[in-house]
Amino acid sequence: MPVTRPQIVSRGLKNCCPNCGHQTLFQPGTRFTLNHECPDCGLKLDRGDGFFLGPFVINYTFTIACFIVPVILLSIFGVIGPATAIALGGACALVVPLLLYRTSWSWWLMTYFYFLPQKLPANRTDASDSDEE
Ligand SMILES: [Zn+2]
Repeated sequence: MPVTRPQIVSRGLKNCCPNCGHQTLFQPGTRFTLNHECPDCGLKLDRGDGFFLGPFVINYTFTIACFIVPVILLSIFGVIGPATAIALGGACALVVPLLLYRTSWSWWLMTYFYFLPQKLPANRTDASDSDEE
């Protein structure tokens, strides 16, 4: 298999295309515009209806688990006051997902292709394999 699972993980952690390893997930000069296809290798990145839910779930889960729950616990145990907790939690809920947008897409593509590495064009053995499945 030309692209191995450790390579997929490494490329996912570096926000790179899982197929070719180039930093081509997002359009140059933009922060939030995902390329529909990798401009270097042609891997389809936006894979259709509902595919955006993967990064959404990763982003939401990471924000809740790593920022919102700790703020709530700090408030419950009296480390910070309720008003501070509400302000801090609200700020985290707005800012963290924006900061994690690119990373959550990369982690989602990493997860998807980790479990389906045969879907990568570099790993296809049969010319009849389709990317549209
Ligand atoms: Zn690529």
